[in-house]
Amino acid sequence: MSDVRDELFYKQKHVHDLLDEAGLAQSETYCARYMDFLQKAKTERLANAEAVRLAKAYGFHEFDRNAPLRAGDKIYRSVRGKMLLLAVIGKKSLAEGANICAAHIDSPRLDLKQVPLYEQNEIAYFKTHYYGGIRKYQWVTIPLELHGVVVKKTGESVSVNIGADPADPVFYVSDLLPHLAAKQSEQPLAKAIPGEKLNIILGSLPVRGDTGSDRVKLGVMKLLNDKYGITEEDFLSAEIEAVPAFPVREAGLDRSLIAGYGHDDRVCAFAELQALYETEAPEKTAVCVLADKEEIGSVGVTGMESRAFECFMGDICAKQGVEPDHCFEKSFCVSADVAMAFDPTWPEVSEIRNTAKLNYGVGIAKFTGRGGKSGSNDASAEVMGKLRGIFADANVTWQYAELGKVDEGGGGTVALYMGNRNIDTVDAGVPVLSMHAPYEIVAKHDCYMTYKAMKAVYASK
Ligand code: MN
Ligand code: MN
Repeated sequence: MSDVRDELFYKQKHVHDLLDEAGLAQSETYCARYMDFLQKAKTERLANAEAVRLAKAYGFHEFDRNAPLRAGDKIYRSVRGKMLLLAVIGKKSLAEGANICAAHIDSPRLDLKQVPLYEQNEIAYFKTHYYGGIRKYQWVTIPLELHGVVVKKTGESVSVNIGADPADPVFYVSDLLPHLAAKQSEQPLAKAIPGEKLNIILGSLPVRGDTGSDRVKLGVMKLLNDKYGITEEDFLSAEIEAVPAFPVREAGLDRSLIAGYGHDDRVCAFAELQALYETEAPEKTAVCVLADKEEIGSVGVTGMESRAFECFMGDICAKQGVEPDHCFEKSFCVSADVAMAFDPTWPEVSEIRNTAKLNYGVGIAKFTGRGGKSGSNDASAEVMGKLRGIFADANVTWQYAELGKVDEGGGGTVALYMGNRNIDTVDAGVPVLSMHAPYEIVAKHDCYMTYKAMKAVYASK
């Protein structure tokens, strides 16, 4: 009867059993590239810059609104250095729609406040305001590095980068010692580390021979002034992010996993990028969107709700005399964002039949949201069917990926903002363990399958 079961039952398949030797080698090669990208892409600005650098190497050029646009052209537009739109122009008119993959390149972190620098009891600190959904207790007593820009009132922009180079110092948020943490330990996890205690230690040495106040703060400000030519007021127009200073590493004795900061969602962003870099003259125009601000609601000029997307699509549609709305209504979009991987140590939050597992391929989600699918795109059966067909034709191993049990919690992606544009959209991405933690885990085979999935979407007719 096993034949009948094989024919009739839905069964998830382990990618490691399916790949041949060549496939296993390709998975390793792809993941080595991804690890290199992730190491360099610790903020949305850095991800944007690295993606552009690679795009140029693959023959992409910055889109010129006034230049002609032909089938096979590879173009990109960076939106304020934080959102990236890339396209390979198809043989068919944009009136027949585009194949779009949309991911995000911002990740949860600690942002410096705008008046961040202070001295308390002869230690200098930066005040922070966390960005996105972090579990605050995970961000204390780990090494941090700083990245960002300071824009002076003259308009000059200074890049800040301290901690990534092994020769650099790192930064640190302290926590109580267990000996004196009895009261703190009785607090719920969400309250044990208040946001206003996420203060980053900057230094401890006073300026020698100085007899004024805030001698440690002065010492730190002098170092910053020497290195970057900035004064304290310049922080007002700065965006400096503290991110984990952990290197991207293989994890597990069998090296099957990748540990790193910011897999959500640079793991899908890179799958989209590498797939697009290798796309030559597709039937339909292939568009890769790397959005900022997803972790705080896809808002603002560089988020997925921004009309920067309409502006870009409008510009390329205008080259073909096509109304962008007419392109959108025929387009197909995969919102490529990470899924939750089933965690055998914490099985109680998942409903196993509908949960993605490590190594079972790209996770498809019909809906996200919370409490009755609220705030979700909820792809139609037609869209789900189309995606299944695309993956089947391209031999992409996929699995179903629901974000937790009903009413356990929830989350969102950029999918609904694409749906709102009258673009058929579905979620699909890499399952992650410990999502939003300073160090997250993904399985190499799922990364590879997601790259194959993006390739298939760009190539679909
Ligand atoms: Mn995400
Ligand atoms: Mn997220």
